[in-house]
Amino acid sequence: MNGLQDIDNFIDIQLKGWELALLNYNDLKKVKTKKLHFKGFDVLVQFNPNRIVSSTAKVDATSIESRPCFLCSKNRPKQQRSLPFKMDYAILVNPFPIFPKHLTIPNLKHTDQLMENHFDDMLDLSTHLSDFVVFYNGPKCGASAPDHFHFQAGSKGFLPIEKDFHNRSLCSLQMVKEEVKVYKWNNYLRTAVTFQSSNKNKLSMLFNEYFFRFCQQQPNEGEPMMNLITYYEDGEWVVHLYPRILHRPSQYFEQGKNQLLLSPASVDMGGVFITPRVEDFLKISNEDVADIFSQVCMDNATIHKLFNWD
Ligand SMILES: [Zn+2]
Repeated sequence: MNGLQDIDNFIDIQLKGWELALLNYNDLKKVKTKKLHFKGFDVLVQFNPNRIVSSTAKVDATSIESRPCFLCSKNRPKQQRSLPFKMDYAILVNPFPIFPKHLTIPNLKHTDQLMENHFDDMLDLSTHLSDFVVFYNGPKCGASAPDHFHFQAGSKGFLPIEKDFHNRSLCSLQMVKEEVKVYKWNNYLRTAVTFQSSNKNKLSMLFNEYFFRFCQQQPNEGEPMMNLITYYEDGEWVVHLYPRILHRPSQYFEQGKNQLLLSPASVDMGGVFITPRVEDFLKISNEDVADIFSQVCMDNATIHKLFNWD
């Protein structure tokens, strides 16, 4: 197993040997960010033109089938190195970063982006990459390779969700079940369920119970629409689950000045909106952020009903 020092060395060596990635990481240092203030929290907006490919990725079956999969080892750029994780994952440097350190962790097999049977791997990866948050974008919730199972990871301390969770002013403990604390969020624009536990097995069991209920609620999907952000801190795993009902908001499909090219994924749910176009970066407002969250997230009443909460 590689330690954190090894991960840092790996990133350094990779950037020295891959011009495109180095250029994009240097670009990131100059990237523009603005802060939108809401009651009790902020949402950051990052103008990141290198993310245009990901934000506008065509993820319909025909488009996916007609392109070589960029996460399969045989199609990866020859400069891209990898570090093993467990027996079945490769840790890669993401050449189109959002975070100061940004990794992609594909499965070695070309297998669909479906979380079932992979949640324990996500927790193990969070422990292994303890300086990172690990995140998962569902096949219709921001994954640009829905045909190849993968996680991503980014530097801790970047997403506002970490700080917002520490504050506890926007979330409240809903229940404690078998060593797992479950929190709900209030007045946070996006809906989320947060799990926290030092017991990995109990956490995994409870998550799977919730996941099963979601599956029953969205039976026509390969899996319920969701984003997940996990990390390990102070001996506990933290899992933020964002149940979704829509892939892209209406603004994405508008024309001209009404268009906002923004395709929400885990990073956006975590509090950093990614705008690949400067015009969107400049014009996006608090009202837009609130409206986009309300379109793509499951509403609180449905979540409460799903889990029989009060
Ligand atoms: Zn593949």
